[in-house]
Amino acid sequence: MKLSLIEDLYCPACGTRYPSTVIQTVCLNEACKSSLFAGYNLPLSTDPERLFSGRPATMWRYHEFLPVADPAHVVTLGEGFTPVLPLRNLSYQENDNEVFWKDESGNPTGSFKARGISSAVSKAKELGITNIVTPTAGNAGGALAAYCAQGGLNAYVYMPKLTPKVFKDECRLYGANLIEVDGNISDCGKLADKDATENGWFQVSTLKEPYRLEGKKTMGYEIAEQFNWEVPDVILYPTGGGTGLIGIWKAFDEMEKMGWIGSKRPRMVTVQSESCDGITQAFHHQELQSQFVDRGFTIANGLRVPKPYADKLILKVLRESAGTAISVSDIQMESALKEIARKEGMLIAPEGAALWQAFKTLKASNWIRSGERVLLLNTGSGYKYLENINI
Ligand SMILES: *Cc1c(COP(=O)(O)O)cnc(C)c1O
Ligand SMILES: [Zn+2]
Repeated sequence: MKLSLIEDLYCPACGTRYPSTVIQTVCLNEACKSSLFAGYNLPLSTDPERLFSGRPATMWRYHEFLPVADPAHVVTLGEGFTPVLPLRNLSYQENDNEVFWKDESGNPTGSFKARGISSAVSKAKELGITNIVTPTAGNAGGALAAYCAQGGLNAYVYMPKLTPKVFKDECRLYGANLIEVDGNISDCGKLADKDATENGWFQVSTLKEPYRLEGKKTMGYEIAEQFNWEVPDVILYPTGGGTGLIGIWKAFDEMEKMGWIGSKRPRMVTVQSESCDGITQAFHHQELQSQFVDRGFTIANGLRVPKPYADKLILKVLRESAGTAISVSDIQMESALKEIARKEGMLIAPEGAALWQAFKTLKASNWIRSGERVLLLNTGSGYKYLENINI
């Protein structure tokens, strides 16, 4: 089979199609301006076990469903195919569920951002782009810096001044141009947009270009493969811009079309920081889009997204999947992070730790029922956050 089965791009809101052989950003229809999705010529009678057997344990094992046409353009540092680990020692009410972590902390640059950025930088290289810019709460910037170094592109990273030092240091070490901004990620976004427009740089802000989504989508393929094509009942996801949540759902759509999984899907749960919980508010108020919500600092910098660009798509996934949304405070995240470290030997990111608290809350209210299999997506390593943890 070809390296990529990509056909074109389409707008999930209005259906307009766009060629994937030239640079695209979002839907050009002023009324929707939606994120664009990659469409593939999905093979209908392929056995996934046979297709993937013997392939490398990285996300590029799913290359047919990634957007890069020429192998020479793939910029990889070995991202993906992260372990699924059962919870062994942590206990909760009744202990009558199978609970698993999918642990993304071992990815290059210590977070799952590596997946999206590997895909986006590879496709950018294929399209002849040489200068890439992103606003970031921390992890996306480090990943962009590393993958641009590997791929020979220039990276411009806009990061809030208040981000822990290690996130800035890694960008500088990877040779990126780091711009520290007095403000939050929305402020970074505005400045990045202005500079990119003036200088002709390409922006890879969350869901404003089509290919980071494709990289993060591979988590959905992995979950299905690692659970033997029987997806879990519930997936908890720490939601910032929502790329992973939307991507995992897109992967399930593609795999169902190919007959690799049935119609049974996990209920998808957005977990947010109380600092920025616009999706939680909108979900419970039956709104189709979220408001701008920013109550200031949170130790989970990846969750400090006041209004995700793809808020409508996030809310759609939560509703289609019969999922829910829940918010967690910094105090709860910190105590969950410590509990997980002591009991399981995993030092995970506060964003991931938030899921453990959310799980316990949803279990206590019986939203998660006895016997259900639950997957918690730990999106990053805790090592980069220690500056903000009271030890
Ligand atoms: C970026 C980030 C998130 C949020 O990811 P989205 O897919 O944009 O919602 C969660 N956790 C960590 C550690 C992150 O770096
Ligand atoms: Zn559109």
